[in-house]
Amino acid sequence: MSEERSSNYARILIAGGGLVGNTLALALAQRGCRVCLVEARSGALPAAESADTRHLALAEGSVMALQRLGVWNALRSEAGPIRRVEISRRGAPGQLRLDAAEHGFERFGAVVPAPRLLQALAEQVARRDGIEVCAGIEVKGSVAVGEERVVSLSDGGERRVALVVAAEGSESPLRTQNGIPVRQHDYGQSLISCSIRAGVAAQGCAFERLDSDGPLALLPRPDGRMGLVWTQASDAAAARMADSDDAFAQHYQDRFGYRLGRLHGPGRRSLWPLRLIFAERLHAERLVLVGNAAQTLHPIGAQGFNLGLRDALALALHIAGAADPGAEAVLQSYQSARQADREGTLAWTSQLLAMRPGGSPLGPLAGIGLGVTDLLPALQRGIVQRAMGLAVLPLLPEAA
Ligand SMILES: Cc1cc2nc3c(=O)[nH]c(=O)nc-3n(C[C@H](O)[C@H](O)[C@H](O)COP(=O)(O)OP(=O)(O)OC[C@H]3O[C@@H](n4cnc5c(N)ncnc54)[C@H](O)[C@@H]3O)c2cc1C
Repeated sequence: MSEERSSNYARILIAGGGLVGNTLALALAQRGCRVCLVEARSGALPAAESADTRHLALAEGSVMALQRLGVWNALRSEAGPIRRVEISRRGAPGQLRLDAAEHGFERFGAVVPAPRLLQALAEQVARRDGIEVCAGIEVKGSVAVGEERVVSLSDGGERRVALVVAAEGSESPLRTQNGIPVRQHDYGQSLISCSIRAGVAAQGCAFERLDSDGPLALLPRPDGRMGLVWTQASDAAAARMADSDDAFAQHYQDRFGYRLGRLHGPGRRSLWPLRLIFAERLHAERLVLVGNAAQTLHPIGAQGFNLGLRDALALALHIAGAADPGAEAVLQSYQSARQADREGTLAWTSQLLAMRPGGSPLGPLAGIGLGVTDLLPALQRGIVQRAMGLAVLPLLPEAA
């Protein structure tokens, strides 16, 4: 691309080509905007070699959005549909069982390996007109000058754009450089993620077990293995990372129980320290936050990417038709539109954390066992709505 064309190419620059940055680039391109996507990594490893062994639970609303963005076809064969959800508390009677069919849905969503999702998004970005990808380049900083933000890049280049979107993940240097305050909390916990084989087929059921040490989950995959999630105190998690495969499977089995028969043959493990980071504002002059840069939540409710995807779709909706995408009124309107979803999802995540044995009391639900919640249709409806991620519906772009 010639220097002249590249300097005039896009009015919107996205810093960070992770899950949310790529989603935003696609949503903007679909609405006819030209964007420049700057990603520090120089190219994704093949998904099978990635150090990231997470399985992400996607709400059905997010699956619908990925379909509209032309990404889902590449993932379909590797996605494990979630038809039922079972939540239990270790040491307490009963469990909460939700069946998508009973709520009029085919499924609540689907489970996909995180690196495959990233790869599918990046491949669609590469196919799409209107997106310039600068891979292997870091955004070093930016300053607002008049009607523009001047962005300096690690290759010595400079871009002048009407709006910079910070999609650089939890640490977000742009958020810090621009003095956007955050609420922070270190959970003192880490999450181990891998796959494992179960003796009994899960048949589309996702299991979440609330343990006093932290939540455990087994997520359905289409190949008979399960996506394993295990949250516990960071020092205990580090010890489990050092276990042999057999010892690891046995320790997990001791906490999870035999609901799915014998668990064995764990795959490669990865470790994720957990923190809450919640930006108090979503914008500064000609700068806006999306995804983990805006909020990094505890993964207990599997909401992080689902929420970041809604950030991306909402931002695309707000800026695509705007005469000046970086105008303060436009960014303020995006912030207002996102407030209820962000705060609501944070509150929901905290509620789930409080339900674990030894968590803070949950009002009338404390101490009465999860079985009782079967009787509370309003609570069930709330859980179903969050699992489905239906807040995405008004934000969906037209089909690709
Ligand atoms: C263990 C775990 C389990 C999870 N499970 C779920 C789940 O089941 N469901 C769900 O919805 N969510 C889940 N999440 C949350 C989800 O993974 C995140 O919300 C999502 O990855 C955020 O994407 P992002 O693009 O905002 O940030 P990131 O994925 O962190 O991407 C940021 C990108 O920016 C790049 N970057 C950083 N700095 C710069 C720079 N200066 N210049 C250029 N590029 C830069 C990085 O290289 C990276 O590619 C989970 C999270 C964890 C930790």
